[in-house]
Amino acid sequence: MRIVLYRGDGVIEPWEREFHAVMPDVQTVTWKEGELLAPCDYAVLWNPAPALLAQLGDVKAIFLMGAGVDAVLKFGDALPDVPLVRLGDAGMGVQMAEYVAHAVLRYFRRFDEYEQQARHGAWNPLPQHAKEHFTIGVMGLGRLGMPVVEAMRHFGFPVRGWSRSPKDVPGVQTFAGMEALGDFLHGIRVLVCMLPLTQETTNLLDRHNLGRLASGAYLINVSRGAILNEPDLMTLIRSGQIAGATLDVFRHEPLPAPHPFWNEPRITLTPHISALTMRHDAVRQIADKIQTLENGEAVTELVDRQLGY
Ligand code: NAP
Repeated sequence: MRIVLYRGDGVIEPWEREFHAVMPDVQTVTWKEGELLAPCDYAVLWNPAPALLAQLGDVKAIFLMGAGVDAVLKFGDALPDVPLVRLGDAGMGVQMAEYVAHAVLRYFRRFDEYEQQARHGAWNPLPQHAKEHFTIGVMGLGRLGMPVVEAMRHFGFPVRGWSRSPKDVPGVQTFAGMEALGDFLHGIRVLVCMLPLTQETTNLLDRHNLGRLASGAYLINVSRGAILNEPDLMTLIRSGQIAGATLDVFRHEPLPAPHPFWNEPRITLTPHISALTMRHDAVRQIADKIQTLENGEAVTELVDRQLGY
């Protein structure tokens, strides 16, 4: 069996080593711009080059080295008509839960305010927030959203969840579809965005929808930057309607130097690190799925191109 491995950043050698360790009988193939690709059974990619995609019409499936698929679906008709499979959790769920739990607890226990106080030499205990009024809303109840929901439940916060299709999650107030978005957002204290970037979710977090949150709410965006209308967030933060935001993803990455987010103390920035691909877990998952496909069975995490995720 031959598998072509490709990453836009060129860091392919550690992936080759991992594939050889997990699938010793497989021949891995690399590709460079301008080369003709010899026939392969499968492709495993991240940020693919269009010239490579054009040569993948005969592979049995394309696997992605990440959970998000927007960077591949943007190629539209240039994407070969073969099954497209993304990663499902593969070690990212626990990282998302850690990242979000840290951000939520920082706001709930007012560490953001104590950090500012300490900078000014102020010793001033603040009243505790009441947990029953600190509702956490998680947008996206998928492979990465659910571990976040579980972590928030563990700390005893009231939790709401929003997804496209209806869900029954014990102890969580769930909402489904655009028609329920207003009810979901109303009065939320911390909004966590775990949605994929699709036509429907682009710019979903705008002035109108963020304005439905509780006054003094917080935003945590760990999915994709283009879901958030960045100027609208700045307006709401400056007016005090939104008290703060923790952002891991941005419309343009790296975040450009003159961007107003850099100088806004109520915004905490991280450079797209909330859930990193765990190479070993990822390769094991891809290897299992290749075996499943070779057995003629269906795999999970198949991308629905119509829905865009
Ligand atoms: P997933 O398993 O596909 O879950 C997506 C969830 O979003 C599902 O619950 C889905 O609803 C919901 N959803 C999709 N479109 C919706 C819509 N229009 N309205 C309401 N709900 C909608 O995806 P995942 O594995 O959890 O990953 C989520 C995203 O995280 C990825 O797409 C990626 O962009 C991002 N990500 C970020 C990082 C990082 O480091 N920052 C790392 C990995 C992934 P249904 O359940 O009804 O289908």
